[in-house]
Amino acid sequence: MPSVLSQRRKPVSPNHVSELRQLLHDTSAELRTSTDVDYDRSVARWSKAAVKPAGLVVVPTTTEEVSIVVKYAAEENLDVAVKGGGHSTAGASSTDGGLLFDLDKMRTVRVDSDKKLFIVGGGANWGDVDQAAAPYNLATVGGTVADTGVGGLTLGGGYGWLSGLYGLSIDILIQCTVVLANGDVVTASEQNNADLFWALRGAGQNFGVATEFIFQAFDVSPDVYAGLLLFEPTPHNIQRVTEAVNRTYAINSAGQIKVAGRGTGGMGFMRPPGLDAAMIAVPIIYFGTAEQGQAVYRDFFDLDPKISTMSMVPYAEINKFLAPPYGLRASMKGAAFTLPLRPAFVQKLFEEYQKFGDGNDDAQGSILLWELLDTRKVTELDAGSFANRGTHGNVLICPIWTKPENDAAYREWARHINEKFKKELADHSGEEVGPAVEVTTIRGRKKATQFYGNYDHYDEKSKDIFGDNYEKLQALKTRYDPGNVFNKLFSISPLAN
Ligand SMILES: Cc1cc2nc3c(=O)[nH]c(=O)nc-3n(C[C@H](O)[C@H](O)[C@H](O)COP(=O)(O)OP(=O)(O)OC[C@H]3O[C@@H](n4cnc5c(N)ncnc54)[C@H](O)[C@@H]3O)c2cc1C
Repeated sequence: MPSVLSQRRKPVSPNHVSELRQLLHDTSAELRTSTDVDYDRSVARWSKAAVKPAGLVVVPTTTEEVSIVVKYAAEENLDVAVKGGGHSTAGASSTDGGLLFDLDKMRTVRVDSDKKLFIVGGGANWGDVDQAAAPYNLATVGGTVADTGVGGLTLGGGYGWLSGLYGLSIDILIQCTVVLANGDVVTASEQNNADLFWALRGAGQNFGVATEFIFQAFDVSPDVYAGLLLFEPTPHNIQRVTEAVNRTYAINSAGQIKVAGRGTGGMGFMRPPGLDAAMIAVPIIYFGTAEQGQAVYRDFFDLDPKISTMSMVPYAEINKFLAPPYGLRASMKGAAFTLPLRPAFVQKLFEEYQKFGDGNDDAQGSILLWELLDTRKVTELDAGSFANRGTHGNVLICPIWTKPENDAAYREWARHINEKFKKELADHSGEEVGPAVEVTTIRGRKKATQFYGNYDHYDEKSKDIFGDNYEKLQALKTRYDPGNVFNKLFSISPLAN
């Protein structure tokens, strides 16, 4: 396969491989080239469309090993990519011919139950955290799907089931150990290297390889009321489910929300396996008893769902039940919305979704989801360089397919749907809102786009994602990564000397 490296970066040569072997000789780090058995596992991604052929894979086991290799790669001007959980559908953790860090052997999770802390390796995924935390009935704000990486999700913000109560993953991140472009190992927190800590929380992929995270942990009851409701997508049901969403999740004129931080989930469209037809899907996670959950979500139950899987389930299980399989082709494209949703818009989007899948065998697994939560905590906090906070919610436009020849067309569909959301925001956001709700337009309070940077974006640039924070990020980038070694996701240009 031909290499399409950035002009300024060099591909990995056989000479680099042998020099790195020498440098890592006395360590436990593993090097993998395309002829090695585990190479394919290292370059595999959640979306096959994001796979690229790395010139060399380094699988470190310690921060010191990462440091040796980062320093060497920067000096040699190699193209560098870092893989945590491999979920970026934008290809941000892949390199075509360059050097790839696969952090798969840095997945330890330690629980300090006295201090209520999780100490998490840079390559762990959220399933690793759930498993370690479950015996202590502790949890933190992590991803909603177990095999998503802690690294990428946290460094770009991090929404989870507990965001309604505690904010984003970056809001409860206490410390991060990172290997900088010059190989220095730095611990960043509010107390130490506070400016770097600010940058890491939102734009972290641009500043180094994070080898350890320390998160605040919270008590959770062992079981949570959770499941999925499915409704026939008749216009009548679309109208009524949309109204139920508005009643349950919109902030009212007194600044209150019915779910009160404890209820979260979404509303959207999918074709559930076995049903062979598009349905309205309403996933619900409620941190409380079944009786309490049934009362809060009564509007939905009263609509008589065709299928309900609601029950009390162990906390760790809720990160498994909305998990599309690893290894298909997908684009997880983002968009944004404000409440109240207009039923006519939801109906229109359903028609688009149905048209995309009908008679199209390769699009059946695709999902369109309005993610729903109590946004007040996320809005109230302001940790880090993350610039997309607001009372808006995220939309997941997720075509999922298998045939490479569909790559361009299916991404185009996602772009087309994203345009619909942009227009809806521009034309209708801010309608019927009470005084407690800020009016959200396409640009938010920091003049950043409302789109979540951890989702796939084709048109947005770094300044769109970081808004007013971009200039400060540039200054910090100049200090911490002047050669822009870490440049794969919403790259921040260092300032010229
Ligand atoms: C099925 C699925 C579910 C998702 N659910 C959620 C969700 O609930 N909440 C949410 O907020 N987002 C969610 N996302 C989006 C998710 O935040 C991004 O895809 C994120 O990039 C995933 O991180 P990762 O480590 O798995 O990805 P990777 O592809 O490994 O990495 C993504 C980016 O992060 C960098 N990176 C990863 N680890 C490190 C590290 N240790 N040090 C430095 N850089 C690193 C990579 O270099 C790359 O730039 C989901 C995505 C998918 C596909």
